[in-house]
Amino acid sequence: MTRAPAPTHDFTVVYAEEDLGPATAPFTCRPAPAGNGIVVEGECPRCHGRTRTEYRHGLPGTGTKGLLSWLAGRSPAPEDDAGALVREVHFCECGHPHPNLPPDAPAGCGASWRITTLLDGGTA
Ligand SMILES: [Zn+2]
Ligand SMILES: [Zn+2]
Repeated sequence: MTRAPAPTHDFTVVYAEEDLGPATAPFTCRPAPAGNGIVVEGECPRCHGRTRTEYRHGLPGTGTKGLLSWLAGRSPAPEDDAGALVREVHFCECGHPHPNLPPDAPAGCGASWRITTLLDGGTA
């Protein structure tokens, strides 16, 4: 936990379902360790926690090949997959149970946003 300096994760942010709109900070995506999807990582624009969301693919007929081959650099980025991730609404999953966290919600601050800058995090 002594890596690059980053804004402090504000644990006191009270949970609220708040749509922040387009986020300016870059997010990275890389293949999921299990190889059946991708992981999108970045910093929550609201609580500044490190949030990590896994998008599973591999269901029949969901365009798995296109997305994974694009991430592996074997084919040009298909407009629809890249566009889908950018259009996706992402929710804070920083892992911290913020105050007033509903029992059925994933641990986070409740913020949602859209990614405007998506970086290829590679396969490492
Ligand atoms: Zn958050
Ligand atoms: Zn948080």
